[in-house]
Amino acid sequence: MQLETLRPQESTRDIFKMIASHEQIVFCNDPASGLQAIIAIHDTTLGPALGGTRMYPYKTVDDALVDVLRLSEGMTYKCAATDIDFGGGKGVIIGDPNQDKTPAMFRAYGQFVDSLNGRFYTGTDMGTTMDDFVHAAKETPFINGLPEVYGGGGDSSIPTAKGVIYGLEATNMFLYGTKDFVGRTYAIQGLGKVGFKVAKHLLKTGANIYVTDIYEETVARLQEQTKDLPGVVYAVEKDAIYDVAADVFVPCAMGGVLNDETINRLNVKAVVGSANNQLQAKAQADQLDKKGILYAPDYIVNAGGLIQVADELYGPNPERVMAKTESIYDAVLAIYDTARRKGITTNEAADMNCQQRIKEQQARNNFFTRGRSPKWTIKS
Ligand code: NAD
Repeated sequence: MQLETLRPQESTRDIFKMIASHEQIVFCNDPASGLQAIIAIHDTTLGPALGGTRMYPYKTVDDALVDVLRLSEGMTYKCAATDIDFGGGKGVIIGDPNQDKTPAMFRAYGQFVDSLNGRFYTGTDMGTTMDDFVHAAKETPFINGLPEVYGGGGDSSIPTAKGVIYGLEATNMFLYGTKDFVGRTYAIQGLGKVGFKVAKHLLKTGANIYVTDIYEETVARLQEQTKDLPGVVYAVEKDAIYDVAADVFVPCAMGGVLNDETINRLNVKAVVGSANNQLQAKAQADQLDKKGILYAPDYIVNAGGLIQVADELYGPNPERVMAKTESIYDAVLAIYDTARRKGITTNEAADMNCQQRIKEQQARNNFFTRGRSPKWTIKS
C-alpha cells in the first residue's frame, strides 16, 4: 500500500481534534442486531470510566458523537466531585427507544462493553431501562444499576433524594447557621421519584412547601399522604413556581430551568435541587451570584444515585450507600466556602475542586494502573 493512502484525511484529523480531551472513543457496529453505538471514555485518572448509556434517535452520527463527548466529560466531573474512584464515560445508542430496541441489541452492546475489560461500566440513562441492561449483563459483568433481584442496588432515587436533603441542610447552615427546616419555605418543581421524597421529608421536619407538577394528581396525592404532618403544602401553577417567595427553589424536574427569564423572576435565597443541567449556560451562574442567590451545583447535590451505582460494584449495601451520601453535606458547604473566600461562583468552585482532585491523582498515577476496574484488580 502506498504511504500516501495511509495518511489521515482532513476529516480524520478533525475527529482527533474533536476528541482531544478524551482518552478513547469506541464505535460499536453490529449489523445483525442493528446496533450502532458510541462509547466515549473521557478520563480514567480516578478509576474506570462510569456512566449510563442513552438511547436516542440522533439525526446524524455527528450529533451522537457530540452528545457522548459532552456527557462523558460531565461524568468525569460528577465522579470527581463525590468520594468515589471512577472516571468519566458514557454510551449512546443511535435509535428510537420506542421502536428499535431489542434484547439482541443489548446483548451485542454488552459484548462491546465487555471488550473494554473493565475500563467502562454502564447502566441506564434516558431511553434505556434496567431490563435492557439485564440483557447486556448476560454478556459482561461491567453493568451497574440492575434491579435488586439481579444483584443490583434498586431504586437510585432514594439516595438521590437524601443527597438533596443534605444539600438543603448545608445551605441552611451556610445561610442561617443551623440545619433546621422548621418554618422555612421551599418551592419544589417536579414531584417525581426524587421531588416527592424531598417534599415529604421537608413536611415532616416542619417546613412549608409550594409545589408544582404537570400531573395535578401527584400534588393531590402528596397532600393526601402528608395531611397529618406539621408542614403545609401549597399547590401552584406550573409556571408560577418561579415567582414564589421562598427560602429555596428546589428544581426536581427538567434541565435548563435557570435561564435569563427565570432567574429574573426568582424570589429565593438559594437554588438546591436534583435536576440535571439546571443552568442553561455557565453564564447563568454569574447571574445568580449577582442577584445574591446561592447556587448548589446540581452535579454535587444529585450525586446520591451515582454513589449508589458505583458502590454496587462491591455488592449492594444500602447502609453503606447512605453513609457515603452524607458526604454531600460537607461537599456543598465546602463549595460555598471556597466560592466566598475566592470571590468566584459556586459553579467555578465545584469545577475547580474536581480539577484539583484529578490533578493530584495524576501526579500519583502511572499508565498501568489507570482505568482498571475494582473487579479486575481483585482477580489479578
Ligand atoms: P421523574 O421523571 O420521576 O420526575 C420528574 C417529575 O417532574 C415528574 O413528576 C414530572 O411530571 C415533573 N415535571 C416535568 N416537567 C415539569 C414541569 N415543567 N413543571 C413541573 N413538573 C414537571 O424524575 P426523577 O427521577 O424524580 O428525577 C428528577 C430530576 O433529577 C431529573 O432531572 C433527573 O435527571 C434528575 N436526577 C435524578 C436521579 C435519580 O436517581 N432519579 C439522579 C440524578 C439526577
